Amino acid sequence: MNVNDSEKAASLLEKEGYVQTSEVEKADLIIVNTCSVRDKAEQKVHSLLGRLRRLKNGENTAIIGVMGCLAQQWGKGFFKRCPHINFVCGTHNIHRIPSLVKEAQLRKKYIEAVNFNGHVPSLDLCVPASKGKISSYVTIMQGCNNFCSYCIVPYVRGREESRPSGDIIREVQRLTEKGVQEIILLGQNVNSYGQTLEEETGFPELLGKIRDLHSVNRIRFTTSHPKDFSDDLINSFAEIDELCEHIHLPVQSGCNEVLEKMRRRYTVEEYLAKVERLRSICPDISITSDVIVGFPGEEEKYFQKTIDLVKKVRFDNIFSFKYSDRPGVASQRFSDKIPEDMKNKRLALLQDIQAKLTLEKNRAQEGKTEQVLVEGTSKGSDADIMGRTRGNRIVNFKGSSRLIGKTVQVKILRGYAHSLRGEMI
Ligand code: SF4
Repeated sequence: MNVNDSEKAASLLEKEGYVQTSEVEKADLIIVNTCSVRDKAEQKVHSLLGRLRRLKNGENTAIIGVMGCLAQQWGKGFFKRCPHINFVCGTHNIHRIPSLVKEAQLRKKYIEAVNFNGHVPSLDLCVPASKGKISSYVTIMQGCNNFCSYCIVPYVRGREESRPSGDIIREVQRLTEKGVQEIILLGQNVNSYGQTLEEETGFPELLGKIRDLHSVNRIRFTTSHPKDFSDDLINSFAEIDELCEHIHLPVQSGCNEVLEKMRRRYTVEEYLAKVERLRSICPDISITSDVIVGFPGEEEKYFQKTIDLVKKVRFDNIFSFKYSDRPGVASQRFSDKIPEDMKNKRLALLQDIQAKLTLEKNRAQEGKTEQVLVEGTSKGSDADIMGRTRGNRIVNFKGSSRLIGKTVQVKILRGYAHSLRGEMI
């Protein structure tokens, strides 16, 4: 979602005549988009802002703004720690960025826009498809009402708000008319899409409406909360050809005691039943997940249950993280914190197990023929192009850059840790 927000900010500024540069020293305006979901992301922001301070201490007169979740969380507090910043722009105020920049140009003082609105105006902002764009994000909802005990999102993104389906369909139509092949629907919990709308459109119905346009080659979505992952949505994988066979379904822990303390509102058994049903409908589906290790109170036997679950589900990949306290959330007050060295050990063990599973899964693709949407040239070799399978695996293979944006058939020759090697047929 942050990438999509950055695109929205950039497109607003392009309308004002700004052009993007990759050389930060030459920029007249620098906006840092921030994430506060984990402590590590926060540390990265401070280190980047430290580097920008040194830049500003020289001759540089660039305007510096901070947007996103951390801007929302810290507000004015940012100016004390980073006096070289001109403005902070919270998650409900992206639409105001051009005017904040103008104010900064006039007054050069500390400008703050972090008020929450009943409606998130930037939900209505559409990013125009740039020439040659193959894949595009489309925000369908923002915010979250779930208040998982460790998560800061409801505090920095606000309550859940869905976007009317007509606006989404019009945006998808505009994007596909410009040649976009793949639409990635975005929201903190797309499965609860529609709950704040007057119209009776849930997420499976929205997917059906997009399919009925007959102009989208591929549909993906993220993120899904397991508690709201309905049978209707599972059935969509069988009914909607355009829906790619990949789901990111964050489990977070394999232990019911921990899930309860996390306030996730599903059990391990319920999660496994949904995975089983999904695989019975769509046997080749690729399933990825998020896992937190070292949640307060996670005893060794509880962690072992997470390992057991990861081995049982055999995820195609996971994003795994050490628990870190986020300010103001419920788990910050839990007393039974896990020492850092134990969290490190558990994370390393989990990642090692998953790396082996991912490699096995990638090797199991060898000999299969996959539809690959070509995205660009390979990082490793100019003679190669790369694309993604419907299961979201990266494939490198020999081919002309003229194929970028096309869907081709590729035989998988070799599975590696992070990608596949293939040949076009
Ligand atoms: S559902 Fe996701 S975004 Fe919402 S509170 Fe839980 S972890 Fe955070």
